[in-house]
Amino acid sequence: MTTISAKLQAVLSRIETAARAAGRLPDEVALLAVSKTWPATRIREAAAAGQRRFGENYVQEGVGKTQELKLLNLEWHFIGPLQGNKTRPIAETFDWVHSIDRLKIAERLSAQRPAELAPLQVCIQVNVSGEETKSGVSLAQLAELARGVANLPRINLRGLMAIPAPSEDVAEQRRAFRALRDAYEKLQSDGYPLDTLSMGMSDDLEAAIAEGATVVRVGTAIFGERSGL
Ligand SMILES: *Cc1c(COP(=O)(O)O)cnc(C)c1O
Repeated sequence: MTTISAKLQAVLSRIETAARAAGRLPDEVALLAVSKTWPATRIREAAAAGQRRFGENYVQEGVGKTQELKLLNLEWHFIGPLQGNKTRPIAETFDWVHSIDRLKIAERLSAQRPAELAPLQVCIQVNVSGEETKSGVSLAQLAELARGVANLPRINLRGLMAIPAPSEDVAEQRRAFRALRDAYEKLQSDGYPLDTLSMGMSDDLEAAIAEGATVVRVGTAIFGERSGL
């Protein structure tokens, strides 16, 4: 069986190759290791191999792991769906949230962010594929949401995130990522100081990097296939 350390190196080398192919520097693209469903022991393995940023999707599970691994001083990103009644543990625990899709949730996170912690770093999740069931704000409503989120005191709006509909067609993958990048550049030209474009996963990180991703969120290619969920 391939070790987490070897798989992590393989992912880093895919990132490097994709960045160079796009005329970018490899260190312009950060790797977020998505550890949802995997026990803390696997995260320790990845951390021992040098990985610092981890992404979690489920509140209770994620908070448990941050507590168990507190001494490692890792950076924790919440990337899953947000529910109004579960914002407090996120505000009290995570460094980043990628999945802001409505103002109410952002207001709660800002109000609940403890004063002794740095402001919560956030991305707005955008529904670039326009599917009814997917979470994320529509492109049409993005500007209004960005205005509201940027005004909150205990939150820093850093950028945008998307999970496009899966496609095996690279041109199609790139089209979706380009739509997110266009929205990101539009907000930058409107004056928002954004620096984070969170897009690309195990199967499409090359297309995302070609379109300007600054963070790729990779689970399966590092930890293996998730069972059950
Ligand atoms: C699970 C998940 C990922 C990682 O997906 P893989 O295909 O396992 O790399 C990335 N982003 C989000 C929001 C996820 O929920």
